[in-house]
Amino acid sequence: MAERKPVIVSEEELRLQREYMQMVRENPERPASYHVVTYGCQMNAHDSEKLAGMLRDMGMEEAPDREHADFVIFNTCCVRDNAERRALGNVTWLKEIRKQNPKLIIAVCGCMIQQPGMADRILRQYKFIDLAFGTSNLHKLPELMHKKLQSDRAVVQVEDEDTIAEDVPVKRLRKDSAYITIMYGCDNFCSYCIVPYVRGRERSREKSAILNEARQLKESGVKEIMLLGQNVNSYGKGLAEETNFARLLQELDEIGIPRIRFMTSHPKDLSDELIEVLRHSRHILPQFHLPVQSGNDEILRRMNRRYDRARYLDRVRKLREAVPGIGLTTDIIVGFPGETEEQFLDTMALVDEVGYDSAFTFIYSPRTGTVAAGLADQVPEDVAADRIQRLIALQDRRQKEEMARFLGMEEEVLVEGLSRRSDKAVSGKGRHGVSITFGGTEEDVGRIIRVRVTEIKNNTLMAERLD
Ligand code: SF4
Repeated sequence: MAERKPVIVSEEELRLQREYMQMVRENPERPASYHVVTYGCQMNAHDSEKLAGMLRDMGMEEAPDREHADFVIFNTCCVRDNAERRALGNVTWLKEIRKQNPKLIIAVCGCMIQQPGMADRILRQYKFIDLAFGTSNLHKLPELMHKKLQSDRAVVQVEDEDTIAEDVPVKRLRKDSAYITIMYGCDNFCSYCIVPYVRGRERSREKSAILNEARQLKESGVKEIMLLGQNVNSYGKGLAEETNFARLLQELDEIGIPRIRFMTSHPKDLSDELIEVLRHSRHILPQFHLPVQSGNDEILRRMNRRYDRARYLDRVRKLREAVPGIGLTTDIIVGFPGETEEQFLDTMALVDEVGYDSAFTFIYSPRTGTVAAGLADQVPEDVAADRIQRLIALQDRRQKEEMARFLGMEEEVLVEGLSRRSDKAVSGKGRHGVSITFGGTEEDVGRIIRVRVTEIKNNTLMAERLD
């Protein structure tokens, strides 16, 4: 694949977008309210915060749901087939809502639209869509909205560029916890994954921009930052300043935000240097999401993961030795083309051996354009369904066993909200990444509270307050 250089969106371009924002704000025809519907991962959730930031700065109020909004935007995901189908189903349903609100503007953006030829196909099929743009054009929403307000025709912009846009307005979902994207795209081309085709080549943000953002967040009272990237472990590639993820983490740790988390990590790039930083850090939480995908070397080779089972287990051992009790989570795909029962049992054995605090398990779903979609030997649906059930049952049992280590332990919880089961209890994540529930009120939301774990109920830890 030819080398592609990242396109840093210029100051001039960003100034132009601010002018478009102003024009939309002053346009009496602009929508009064918006609603963003998000599918997929945290990267998408953070992109939605940027969409909301730009819409707020264009003078629109956030509507509580799509039925009450004049502008509805679907920020889509294409990593799995069902996310794509769900998004399109929901877009179609909006056509009905437009009968009550003829001024409703419907937009679709994100990974699904960035797939080659997809925007044209969708607009041909779903003629009521007004606006469509790809992941690399997100910062151009003000310009696209301005154009839409001048025309009855659909406005489309999908460019095959690897952009980095700084200083895009953000409306953060939470006041206590904030996302910071540190890198975009992915160069790994795992054979089942569409991400490199829709999010572009790997590109890192300048370290100074990330550190500044973190300092500002600390000043605004944020207690936790979540660093985002498709492969945060390879942060720094291509930057003029010689740096890497371990050094970035070290500098972020010194800023003093109480909690630092990150995702996603690739086992092949998880360096000893990074593990040493985790060992000595004060604010990086003792939790690590390390996708394994399969426990069989031949399947890993055909997935183009570029590590083997031994390397993976060695990383797990080193992490646990450096950070005792660290919370480990993972992603696993079952039913990859050609996966035999024996190869699947290797995955089961690995899950049993590692003991994850939680695992995201998926049945392989072919994505057009990826190498694996063309492989013969797709595993029959019933076989894959049977395997995933066995895997979930095993993970469930191992999870319960792993949770036992928290009993009687003191933990610090960043409270996210009232518990779903009682308005006299609150819940949030402990330092190890596990959900913890304990007595509390709305006033505790956004605070870090010390608790002692007293009980385990359905993979949630129950606790008593110590503060
Ligand atoms: S590392 Fe692999 S699975 Fe993750 S985004 Fe990149 S290509 Fe996809």
